[in-house]
This record gives sequence, C-alpha cells and structure tokens, in this order.
Amino acid sequence: MIPNTVKIGWRNYIIEQGEHRAGDGGGDLCGEINYEAGKVYIWDKQDDESKLITLLHEIFHGIMYFIGRGDLRTDENFITALTENFYQVMKDNPSIFENCKNCGKSTCYEQIIALPDCNSCAIKETCRYTPEPGQATRINCPLWVEMS
Ligand SMILES: [Zn+2]
Repeated sequence: MIPNTVKIGWRNYIIEQGEHRAGDGGGDLCGEINYEAGKVYIWDKQDDESKLITLLHEIFHGIMYFIGRGDLRTDENFITALTENFYQVMKDNPSIFENCKNCGKSTCYEQIIALPDCNSCAIKETCRYTPEPGQATRINCPLWVEMS
C-alpha cells in the first residue's frame, strides 16, 4: 500500500504515481525524488511489491539528503543495496514491523500499559501486574501472552 505522503526528516513529500519516465541517462526510471519540490514519483505500472521497493529506494535517497551525505545520496549502488537488503529483512522478519492486530499500531506497548486489565488472560479484576505509570511491566505478567 503506497501512501499519498511520506515524511523524511522534517520534510513531507507528496507521492505521485504516474507514467513511465526516462532517466537523465536515458535509462528506465521506476522512481524519482525531488527534494526541492517535496515530491516522490513512482511509476504506476509496476506491481505492488516493486512500487514498495521503489518507494523505499527513494526514501533512502531522501534520508541521505536529510543527513547531508551527498556522496551516499548519489551512490545508486549503495542506495540499491540498502533498499534490497532492508526490504528482505522487513519481509522475512514480519513480526518486527507488522501492526498489532488488536490496536493497529506498530507497537502495542502503549496500549498494553493503558489497559486497566490484562488483555489476554481471563482475569477481569485489576491485575496485580498492572504497571505504574511509565512502566511497561505488563509483559512480565506470567499469564501475559503475545497477541498473535
Ligand atoms: Zn536511485
């Protein structure tokens, strides 16, 4: 799922999906990032996974721009290696990145802390493992099981 915007550093980039473009060298261009215009362009005829990789590729360009590393930003081999390998780690280790099925957030620790009762055991009265404000000890409850 390609969003309409992506925030890299403090910049909000508008993502535009559109027609195929030729690169400066005449080669194929699946994606492009324009730092000044705040736009990320993605060729819309790619399959969904390729779009995602294209977006990730442009994000890494944007990160290198943000940290002022023009040498890395313009190193297509470096950007591609980072993209392909980071994508593989994300894809093959989904539990790190997937949203909590209960709260929809990428991490549900906050949600767990906020719950008055344990969210997975059958105990409905206030759990004695309820953490103090700011603590995340709920997961130390012997009855707590990771939501799956
Ligand atoms: Zn590139």
